[in-house]
Amino acid sequence: MSFTLAIVGRPNVGKSTLFNRLVGKKLALVDNQPGVTRDLREGEARLGDLRFTVIDTAGLEDTTDDSLQGRMRRLTERAVDMADVCLFMIDARAGITSIDMMFAEILRKRSAHVILAANKSEGSAADAGVLEAYNLGLGEPIRLSAEHGEGLNDLYSVLMPLADDFEEREQESAPETDVEVSEEPENDGAPVPTVAKPLQIAVVGRPNAGKSTLINRILGEDRLLTGPEPGITRDAISVATIWDNTPMRIFDTAGMRKKAKVQDKVEKLSVSDGLRAVKFAEVVVVLLDAAIPFEQQDLRIADLAEREGRAVVLAVNKWDVEEDKQGKLRALKEAFDRLLPQLRGAPLVTVSAKTGRGLDRLQDAILRAHDVWNRRVSTAKLNRWLSGMIEAHPPPAPQGRRIKLRYMTQAKTRPPGFVVMCSQPDKMPESYSRYLVNGLRDDFDMPGTPIRLTMRGQG
Ligand code: GDP
Ligand code: GDP
Repeated sequence: MSFTLAIVGRPNVGKSTLFNRLVGKKLALVDNQPGVTRDLREGEARLGDLRFTVIDTAGLEDTTDDSLQGRMRRLTERAVDMADVCLFMIDARAGITSIDMMFAEILRKRSAHVILAANKSEGSAADAGVLEAYNLGLGEPIRLSAEHGEGLNDLYSVLMPLADDFEEREQESAPETDVEVSEEPENDGAPVPTVAKPLQIAVVGRPNAGKSTLINRILGEDRLLTGPEPGITRDAISVATIWDNTPMRIFDTAGMRKKAKVQDKVEKLSVSDGLRAVKFAEVVVVLLDAAIPFEQQDLRIADLAEREGRAVVLAVNKWDVEEDKQGKLRALKEAFDRLLPQLRGAPLVTVSAKTGRGLDRLQDAILRAHDVWNRRVSTAKLNRWLSGMIEAHPPPAPQGRRIKLRYMTQAKTRPPGFVVMCSQPDKMPESYSRYLVNGLRDDFDMPGTPIRLTMRGQG
């Protein structure tokens, strides 16, 4: 019915304050519930029309012994595993500390959805800390003030599309493992909407790449336009459209509108606006200018989209003015492989937003990328495949003890995430994980999508 949000971060950043604000008076402490430790508080949260479960990793504040870091890590990992979404909170007034970096590392590896929140952001004393937070590599921070109740709109905007996703996913999956007892009526008898949910895309790229032209071209042919819809956030709006029989919601960014006003901030602005659009999207279209493709800014945004776990399509625009199309295409593919190895196999299509050429291929690529991003591989197939992979290339034996891979399963989709149960998970070298990820990509036809692989010990 709904999703679980874990609030994680080091002590004193304001987690409990946010927890209390989200749970409000209807605080329902369930610490006698099996499986929930004393250190994890759980409550039913309400934010606008969203209802979800929130977990707070409280109870660490009074721990002063040396093992604090270890406990914090274990507790956080537990919370992350229980949650669908993690809200990672930092203290914008204090700036980023090494413990924050440790948390970021855990979250990058372990969590499918991370929302970065810079708390204590009321007033300008927080500005430097908010900027620093970009360095965590977890996308754009939301400015929050848990104490003053500021920034909750932005939190809502980020959670809302995710909430839709989880609802959709639950409708798809059979309820055989998740037995949830609820005393409340699940829904007040309202009819379940049957309309296909629009595919959410974001078009990102440098100023002048042709984003506005492309979006207008897509919308131009369509009379069913239902946007722009104000109020999703200040900075990102979306338009819904039917593009060749496929409902799509295109996230548009304010940077495209505002760019003329702040010339010297153009680069900064468009990148951070792009970041925001990426958060909303299922498929991110990175639009390049054929004349100047793969500039630093393009690479950054493509990398970000991958790290955020989005399906990525590269579109090279202004193809109409290209003279040596063959040669150029070869050069583009070569540059793509070299500069963005993390997006191996992602589609690269050439388009002209101006003339409309190539837009059918772009749409195909978007649909295919979305499909791959949603792919699910059965556990039986995975384990057959895994034994083949082990046979072909056994895992290493650090200090003479061979790492044993016992079992593998797909834990999530969107993007595909796999868990391998093994001995000595901490000793597993990156190169072996990469071997498995590339194998998954090739053998199960999952080009281009980010693939998450987690090694986990028993118990
Ligand atoms: P936790 O231990 O990480 O859950 O942090 P708490 O919620 O206990 O908050 C730690 C301290 O930060 C408390 O003194 C709070 O009053 C304060 N705090 C929480 N949120 C804010 C905020 O938005 N602004 C400011 N200035 N202080 C805050
Ligand atoms: P944005 O800043 O990314 O939104 O870029 P715009 O859509 O405003 O386009 C920037 C410039 O590139 C404008 O002058 C457009 O007319 C031009 N442009 C956009 N797409 C194409 C294209 O496919 N071919 C050519 N030749 N010019 C284009």
